[in-house]
Amino acid sequence: ILRPAGLLAELNRIEATLGRERIIHWGPRTVDLDILFWGDLILDTETLTIPHPGACERLFVLEPLAELVPDLVDPRSGKTVAEILESLRS
Ligand code: ATP
Ligand code: CA
Ligand code: CA
Repeated sequence: ILRPAGLLAELNRIEATLGRERIIHWGPRTVDLDILFWGDLILDTETLTIPHPGACERLFVLEPLAELVPDLVDPRSGKTVAEILESLRS
């Protein structure tokens, strides 16, 4: 069974394989693999924040997520992805 830290390590390996180079933070890159949610887990460590801090703030994350799993509950707010998207839009 893959734990969050194990998945992050695996994502980093895949990013490296695909030739990701980090030049400027938030600058253009080949690929970016983030962990958005892990069930109802809340995790705050040096290397891993779950849910991803951007997940509930970024339209480019919320819009496709709400199409796939509108009823997914953000464990920090207790709101569904659809509800968060709705309140961001208004
Ligand atoms: P953002 O986090 O704002 O989307 P980014 O994806 O560009 O920014 P990176 O440079 O790819 O940031 O990652 C920086 C670090 O973020 C990673 O080395 C990792 O340890 C940490 N990190 C913390 N939480 C997460 C998460 N949920 N998913 C992926 N990486 C995370
Ligand atoms: Ca990211
Ligand atoms: Ca990332």
